[in-house]
Amino acid sequence: MAGLTCATALKGMADVTLFEKSVFVGGRVSRHPFGEYRDHQGEQYITVSNPLFLKIVESWLDAGLLRSWDGWVVELNRGQIVNLDDAPPRYRGDPNMQAIADRLASGLQLRHSTAVAELDRNEDGRWRLFDDRGGYLGLFDIVVLATAAHQVAPLAKASRSIATAAANIDMTVCWSAMFDFGQALNLPFDAAFVLDSPLSWVARFDAPKPREEGECWVVHASPEWSAQYAASFRGRVLHALMDAFFEACDLPSQKPLASNVHCWRHALPINTLGEDCLFDEQAAIGACGDWCTAPRIEGAVLSGFSMADRVMKQLRKPGHG
Ligand SMILES: Cc1cc2nc3c(=O)[nH]c(=O)nc-3n(C[C@H](O)[C@H](O)[C@H](O)COP(=O)(O)OP(=O)(O)OC[C@H]3O[C@@H](n4cnc5c(N)ncnc54)[C@H](O)[C@@H]3O)c2cc1C
Repeated sequence: MAGLTCATALKGMADVTLFEKSVFVGGRVSRHPFGEYRDHQGEQYITVSNPLFLKIVESWLDAGLLRSWDGWVVELNRGQIVNLDDAPPRYRGDPNMQAIADRLASGLQLRHSTAVAELDRNEDGRWRLFDDRGGYLGLFDIVVLATAAHQVAPLAKASRSIATAAANIDMTVCWSAMFDFGQALNLPFDAAFVLDSPLSWVARFDAPKPREEGECWVVHASPEWSAQYAASFRGRVLHALMDAFFEACDLPSQKPLASNVHCWRHALPINTLGEDCLFDEQAAIGACGDWCTAPRIEGAVLSGFSMADRVMKQLRKPGHG
């Protein structure tokens, strides 16, 4: 989201090429098919605290890419439901956040499935980029690294300040799972922060079918549990998370129709920089992402915006066209 936001904000101001190592854009908000659902194991909803981000969210609402989500979110302690007094407005992608990522990407020069592996600076200060097979990707005046923090340091060798700052960010591990049940579970809430459990979050998935025909739940293990079982087998983790789900919701266990488990090895930054983005004017290289600002979509988008602003300032300097 940081890279897509930055590239979109620079449209018409600079000739931007976006390299994405994955087949999909969206990074940690991208989706994969899961039966009749789209795999929705990552981000759950957007909250807004910044006025600029509110404007962006409003434009996404107007464009039908986002909708208000008024699900009942509670705190859950071994079946005991505690109502949360504080309920900020929450939004969900319509149908999911991938739609927003796809819309942002639609007007950009984008190269999918291209992992940038090496940056090499010419004598004239321009950057030559190479992919992970040594293929030449082009010559650029400015490079923006809009990746997760652990992916920045190896690429930002030419800028000690950026490489060091990124290397100091720690990320959580998060095991997540989805369970598609063939019947309604009749839980009164839509999502819950879970206490005293291997889980930290459970949420009913927005279903493409009537509730009586079944429902699908996504669960996130806590960062502590996820780190402890980071090296475990997927099957073992899946069963542990399913047992934890039934225990947390005080439900008798039942076999789901389908299930899926995923380990986010670098889920969320634990510490953030407290700076909107980083830019090294001498080296003409910048870095942005949620690890700069706040560990959520809002943080990534605002960091990307701020990065575009820094790039524009650099372009306005004498010597740049
Ligand atoms: C399990 C989970 C649940 C979450 N829940 C929420 C939530 O409910 N609400 C919320 O607001 N946020 C949530 N988040 C956080 C949110 O998803 C992230 O903060 C945000 O998506 C980060 O965006 P980003 O652009 O900074 O980084 P990323 O999404 O990591 O994007 C980086 C991109 O760079 C690409 N890339 C990396 N290296 C290279 C390379 N060498 N060459 C080319 N491309 C490369 C990656 O493929 C990726 O597309 C959640 C995250 C996780 C993991």
